[in-house]
Amino acid sequence: MAKHEKNNKKNYKKDENFYYGSTFALQNLPCDFVIDTIHHLPRGEKTNIYKIGATEGTIKFAYETQKGLVRLSNSTGMIEEENIMGRFLKLKPKDYPKFFEKNGFIFAIKKDEYQSLNEESIQQLIARLKLCVELMGEITNNNKSYKNILSNALALFSADPIDVKLEGEKIYSSATHPLYDAIYNNTRMTNDDYKRRLQNSNYDYEIKDSIFGTYIFDSEECSNYIEDCNDAWLKRLVITYVNKNNEYSKDEKYIIDTLFHYYYDFLPKASADTELDDKLKDGILAFAKLMVKEEIDHNIKGVHASYDTDKMQPKWNVDDLFTAMYMSLFYLRANNYIYKQCPHCGTYFIVSRTTSKKIYCTDRCRRNANAKAFRRKHQIA
Ligand SMILES: [Zn+2]
Repeated sequence: MAKHEKNNKKNYKKDENFYYGSTFALQNLPCDFVIDTIHHLPRGEKTNIYKIGATEGTIKFAYETQKGLVRLSNSTGMIEEENIMGRFLKLKPKDYPKFFEKNGFIFAIKKDEYQSLNEESIQQLIARLKLCVELMGEITNNNKSYKNILSNALALFSADPIDVKLEGEKIYSSATHPLYDAIYNNTRMTNDDYKRRLQNSNYDYEIKDSIFGTYIFDSEECSNYIEDCNDAWLKRLVITYVNKNNEYSKDEKYIIDTLFHYYYDFLPKASADTELDDKLKDGILAFAKLMVKEEIDHNIKGVHASYDTDKMQPKWNVDDLFTAMYMSLFYLRANNYIYKQCPHCGTYFIVSRTTSKKIYCTDRCRRNANAKAFRRKHQIA
């Protein structure tokens, strides 16, 4: 522990510029987070109401390449706590009061007044941010699991929108992925060939395909598939593939084609160890990258560049702690650094992809995991 603390003694205050070396900085207000419980029946149903209100004070955050988002001490200017995003990703509802008291709330809130927060939103935000972190790690992994990449990318693609509400009023909405809605709205055939086919039952669709050039799709086979398919989304994906025209961008067509070939051609014939075609791998990667881009871009809208004339250097103003967390992904340089999950305690922490063989988040976790393995091996309870 002592050794660990020593490494953190980078004093920000000694510098003329308080945040020198940091890519962005944020000041937040402390937050009073309380839970009112309403008991409806003796030993029965109860409702929790989360109430938050900002209080007087300043909490300062900065960003450091290898430490992520860090909280600075007001008195010394030193790093008080590292890896704030990793801690946020691990939060359970019982941890909320402590976390938000220390770090302030993740969005701007009113001062000296309680506002009620919709209960489920925080866990939803955590799950979504976690998906993005995992996906960035997988995309840049040398030993990629395309199945994991596709399932995480699809989870983001099809995720239900998250609304954060204070006193019932929306203060944040999660990213939308317009292509998902476009596919979902394709409920019927509009392809010109389809209209022609109505007069001629042996018609083939000649579909322009970004992967295979031209794809010949037997109209009978297509109709049968759509009729028999029990999955509403898959059905619409096939219809979108046949319908797709110049309404879609080149990138969107590429994703539609990739998903179509994966679900229509590859998956039904594949066994557990069937290798994916390289062309499909590239398509899946492009799809996953777009998901990461759309998630991050949406969540860094609250970042404003403003030139600092006192110090004659660039300054980034970040609106809130949630934006700062996505900003820390924005700055991650995922080819060199990744968030790894500690197998002992589940914390996500930053490691260098090339130089670090670090498995556990802290020395403490490494020791505890080793002790646990030792006890298991020697059957000590
Ligand atoms: Zn750990």
